[in-house]
Amino acid sequence: MDVPFLSLRDINARHADELKAAVARVIDAGWYILGDELAAFEREFAAYCGTRHAVGTGNGLDALSLVLRAWREMGELAEGDEVIVPANTFIASFLAISETGLRPVPVEPDPATFTLDPARVEAAITPRTRVIMPVHLYGQLADMGALADIAGRHGLLVLEDAAQAHGAAWGGVRAGAFGHAAAFSFFPAKNLGALGDGGAVTTDDDQLAAYVAALRNYGSEVKYDHPMRGINSRLDEIQAAMLRVKLRYLDDDTARRRAIAARYRAGIRQPGMILPSVAHEDAHAWHLFVVRCGWRDALQRHLRAAGVQTQVHYPVPPHHQDAYPELHGLSLPVTEQLHREVLSLPMSPTLTDAQVAHVIAMCSAFAEAA
Ligand SMILES: *Cc1c(COP(=O)(O)O)cnc(C)c1O
Repeated sequence: MDVPFLSLRDINARHADELKAAVARVIDAGWYILGDELAAFEREFAAYCGTRHAVGTGNGLDALSLVLRAWREMGELAEGDEVIVPANTFIASFLAISETGLRPVPVEPDPATFTLDPARVEAAITPRTRVIMPVHLYGQLADMGALADIAGRHGLLVLEDAAQAHGAAWGGVRAGAFGHAAAFSFFPAKNLGALGDGGAVTTDDDQLAAYVAALRNYGSEVKYDHPMRGINSRLDEIQAAMLRVKLRYLDDDTARRRAIAARYRAGIRQPGMILPSVAHEDAHAWHLFVVRCGWRDALQRHLRAAGVQTQVHYPVPPHHQDAYPELHGLSLPVTEQLHREVLSLPMSPTLTDAQVAHVIAMCSAFAEAA
């Protein structure tokens, strides 16, 4: 039996009629950038996240960097200020920081949850620290209570990287509504995926929302008036229309992801694998189901031979990338060990029960570790 890691075709085929009707609606409207579809999606996504504002952007990386850029314009941040970021995140979290003239300060995650370890965050704060950027990695909320407490005591801003966690919630509060601002990605493979690139900033701060909305559009609120040096990073009308369709199914998809994760966790019997731990069922949106294994590469080969596609998120941590030579000297043993051990099993709302059962059986049959 073949189990794909993720089939975008299958995901979107479920809504093909509605998606095609939405594209036709935009074509017929004749307005393709900054129009009614975007305005409607921004209202709907803000309501979903429970924030006053959502501002669409061209992608998730720009959503992150536009918040930091806006804070610089607002005088909250200056060149060289430090941003605390989990060391085991996707490179985009780091790129948004360095692109804005700020310094990424990588901090180790809690290996049980893969998210920022609040105790280590406190130890990494210096007089130049201005922002904490928790990443809800693999779909699980970071410990936002503890991080908000630290940020409050030190007067720091909190920017959530929520690119993997649409719909994850704690105490009825959803990802995107915990920090001073949050950034989402709608890259096709994300839990809420467009059929192209897309992103959004969510916030309750009226001024910040207005700055981001201007900065994404050449730094302009009024056509041909440019008080700031902005960029061009807008969520186009067709992608906004796609996302309006898919937002209506997000909670159903998340429920299916949770059911698959529950079956993996209950069914896999493999002493050589550490299964992901969850603080609370609602707090995980299961963008990825990531296990740890000391024989990771052998496990991946074994699963591939059994027809099960897996991936590694991520093979090389940002501080070891050639893009960041200034970080090569850092020793981050928790992160480095995680990058050697993590393996992502197939996870998609379209996986069948038979496919899930096959993944479970093949994981349990892995012999190398026994
Ligand atoms: C996908 C992702 C991003 C970037 O989003 P893009 O839309 O691909 O630019 C940022 N941070 C994390 C954690 C991501 O997974």
